[in-house]
Amino acid sequence: MSRRLSMALPSKGRLREPSWALLEASGVDPQEPGERVLQSHCRNADIDLVFVRADDVPEYVQDGVVDCGITGLDLIEERESDVEVLLRLGFGACSLQAAVPREDAARTIADLAGRRVATSHPRIARRVLDELGVRAEVVRVAGSVEISPRLGLADAIIDLVSTGSTLRTNGLRSLGVLFESQAVLVGRRGSNDLEAHRTLTMVLGSVINARANRYLLCNVTRERLSEVTAVLPTRGSPTVMDLATNGVVAVHALVPAADIWSLLPRLEACGATSILTLPVERMVP
Ligand code: AMP
Repeated sequence: MSRRLSMALPSKGRLREPSWALLEASGVDPQEPGERVLQSHCRNADIDLVFVRADDVPEYVQDGVVDCGITGLDLIEERESDVEVLLRLGFGACSLQAAVPREDAARTIADLAGRRVATSHPRIARRVLDELGVRAEVVRVAGSVEISPRLGLADAIIDLVSTGSTLRTNGLRSLGVLFESQAVLVGRRGSNDLEAHRTLTMVLGSVINARANRYLLCNVTRERLSEVTAVLPTRGSPTVMDLATNGVVAVHALVPAADIWSLLPRLEACGATSILTLPVERMVP
């Protein structure tokens, strides 16, 4: 019998809710930990859960305290953790961007040469600035990076940005992106639980794939079927079934959720009727 898998989940912060939602959607039935209890388990899978800060997950996994965990790719890079990225989870998307006060003369990241830059990600900042050949002074600050120029602590910042509204609110202007991040599932290198890692990656991956797609159904006359199939942005072949009404077929296809908006009017223009789109729970290609 295989050993139980231990998994670290963010106990708070922005990655907490979506990580929990992903586990719930995967069907492993994670059990809520009691108040101030940092451990729990899953009902439908041999997985023990440990709740720690997203910042601590890389070390927990690298040191073998747990077998795997969910954290941000930026945190793995910043700590230069020796862990294996098993799966990109499609949430917690953000980018590490350089920014200056709106009135500053700098236009590109190269213009930061000779200037002082505050960041909570000094290692990534230094590495990328070195790669770009930009010699700037990097100052580490733990939080509220965006107010450092106003406090006179730095000329510029390098900070995580998702919508850009915090930059705008603080009178800052982006000079460009240094690093793209999102939440990831990471595993311990050289783990002897490869099979369990593979199963977990497949199950979580099936939910992530499914979220990005919709199951589309519509009816069309046989004469216009080729018009409909021509506009469907599906990779595989759509399913076509005869309806009880003579000469009319039902078309079923998996389509990217992002394409639905532009696809519906095009399908209507091809004579498709009774168009339905349904969420997909799981998808294993
Ligand atoms: P926490 O500090 O626990 O809320 O988690 C921070 C992590 O969330 C970061 O390391 C990123 O991976 C991710 N994240 C996503 N969007 C942002 C954002 N706009 N600012 C900071 N962190 C973000």
